[in-house]
Amino acid sequence: MKKQFVVIGLGRFGSSVADTLLYQGHEVLVIDRDMSKVEPFMSTATLAVQADATDENVLNELGIRNYEHAIVAIGEDIQSSLLVTLLLKEIEVNTVITKAKDDLHGKMLNKIGADRVVYPERDMGERLAHHLDSSNLIEH
Ligand code: ATP
Repeated sequence: MKKQFVVIGLGRFGSSVADTLLYQGHEVLVIDRDMSKVEPFMSTATLAVQADATDENVLNELGIRNYEHAIVAIGEDIQSSLLVTLLLKEIEVNTVITKAKDDLHGKMLNKIGADRVVYPERDMGERLAHHLDSSNLIEH
């Protein structure tokens, strides 16, 4: 079933999430404050917007409250990551999934109401190790 997503922050993680959701046929609004990150999505995303997502007026004008799922993929600028997550929960986006760069960042995200916190490098590392542990690797 087709779902509506908003992806905020188009670094390696956010752009990969957005690309995959679009490939799966979902509606995806992408936002980044850096135009060079937005440009590659102009022809593929449902809507691609260059804007600062910490600006509440921008979120309202884009009708973000109508989206059920949001992915906040801002890593380095922790203040932006926290503020955007808080604003999305305030406007009652149902599921807000936010990327954290470390434990402290993740702890703060949980406190302010993120529905799910992901640690891409850590999660992928664990998944790979489990996969290696359970697969029948041929030893040389
Ligand atoms: P990755 O590891 O996924 O490449 P990262 O963890 O290094 O990313 P950043 O590069 O800090 O994360 O942020 C990802 C994107 O989020 C950047 O393209 C940046 O322009 C964007 N971004 C940061 N703050 C905001 C904001 N307030 N509004 C919109 N976009 C933002």
